Amino acid sequence: MFKNLINGDWVEAPGVTRNINPSDTRDLIGEYAKADAAQTKDAIAAAQAAFPAWSLSTPQQRFDILDAVGSEILARRNELGDLLAREEGKTLPEAIGEVARAGNIFKFFAGEALRPGGEVLPSVRPGVGVEITREPVGVVGIITPWNFPIAIPAWKIAPALAYGNCVVFKPAELVPGSAWALADILSRSGLPKGVFNLVMGPGSQVGATLLDDARIAAITFTGSVGTGKRVAAACVGRMAKFQLEMGGKNPMVVLDDADLGVAVNCAVQSGFFSTGQRCTASSRVIVTEGIHDRFVAAVVEKLRSLKVDDARKTGTDLGPVVDASQLAQNLKYVEIARGEGATLAYGGDALEHNADGQPGFYMRPALFTDTTAGMRINGEEVFGPVVSVLRAKNYDEALHLANDTPFGLAAGIATTSLKYATHFKRHSQAGMVMVNLPTAGVDYHVPFGGRKGSSYGPREQGRYAAEFYTTVKTAYTQA
Ligand code: ADP
Repeated sequence: MFKNLINGDWVEAPGVTRNINPSDTRDLIGEYAKADAAQTKDAIAAAQAAFPAWSLSTPQQRFDILDAVGSEILARRNELGDLLAREEGKTLPEAIGEVARAGNIFKFFAGEALRPGGEVLPSVRPGVGVEITREPVGVVGIITPWNFPIAIPAWKIAPALAYGNCVVFKPAELVPGSAWALADILSRSGLPKGVFNLVMGPGSQVGATLLDDARIAAITFTGSVGTGKRVAAACVGRMAKFQLEMGGKNPMVVLDDADLGVAVNCAVQSGFFSTGQRCTASSRVIVTEGIHDRFVAAVVEKLRSLKVDDARKTGTDLGPVVDASQLAQNLKYVEIARGEGATLAYGGDALEHNADGQPGFYMRPALFTDTTAGMRINGEEVFGPVVSVLRAKNYDEALHLANDTPFGLAAGIATTSLKYATHFKRHSQAGMVMVNLPTAGVDYHVPFGGRKGSSYGPREQGRYAAEFYTTVKTAYTQA
């Protein structure tokens, strides 16, 4: 059994989680520890005990550790990518890219540990000086989803440690393999014991314990809207700091003047790649009338050419859906959209096996046309390879439809018009806006996050991560 890491020791847990390959459900990747509330509390106690010393560690110490972690991740990107593709189901190139991103994130935050900054200001009073500095928050609880098994943990763990916090990390139950591998690297990095703890186990036990424990100063969460609301309620109840990244129903606008090849690539990349299981996926494509029919025909042609197969096989474009319940949810939405009168232009059916007869959670990507704003398929996040096309009369209507959602994570536009591109960047109500680029696939050194119902609290990644992982101190000195 792969064990949990608590206070520098690998410890058995009361239960076991079986990690299954969604590309071949006969393939058991491993058995992983399944903690309960008591074990979670042990981890919190260890992190709390480690905090006073770690919060005063030197920037050099933190740089060296995070840089070494980043180097090991990058050096092992193929092997870790293979594990990631095997447990999550994204294709091998996507998985290796995700691992590289995680390595680069550790390197970026290694550098940030050396650049904490601060401000020195004159007071409004004579003879008084003012200093503004940032200090770590304390013990941070990190709760992550299954769709980015190493990148999301990396973009939360690396800044937490870089700014001097201690960590209790609870990964998603579906992808413990990548989380364990990352914890293994961290356990050999020279971190003092208790600074980083891995507690694999269910959200209802491990997650809920983190939310309610007064020793956890801050919670960073990525996952569903429903769980995000629980995190918010629990944290407000005890005045803990929190940060949420949740759902999206991201629009991709395609205007008449778009380059058709660029538009098709943006829509197919961001709608279907990684099996549509990205919070930045564009699941609504809003197309103006002059290009609509040509665009739909080209997307259908492209979808026909995509190979749905084992995530680790060369030539696979789309891997399987992550598990049976996600597949059932995707198929449910295909039925809902049909029932609402949408036209299924392509796909939408489950494939029980791949070409080699491996049983897995395979699904042909689904494209719906003739959809309207009021349909559930355009209001609710599916989190699968299911995309709907909305027809718009002109740019103004397309912009209105793009913003007509309770979410606001990412938004894209395909256009050759500087005027419309500029207007869209300013008037999109999303936290991240892409022009002639897919909405999914973002840089690792700049802020990530959304508006409205997608996100809550300070941005993640880049220098902006400091806002969440530190607290500001204003010190006055009379000379
Ligand atoms: P997803 O649909 O991505 O699985 P969830 O919100 O269910 O979204 O899961 C995201 C993370 O939140 C996972 O690590 C999960 O175990 C955790 N989680 C689920 N329920 C709770 C809860 N009640 N309290 C804290 N964490 C939870």
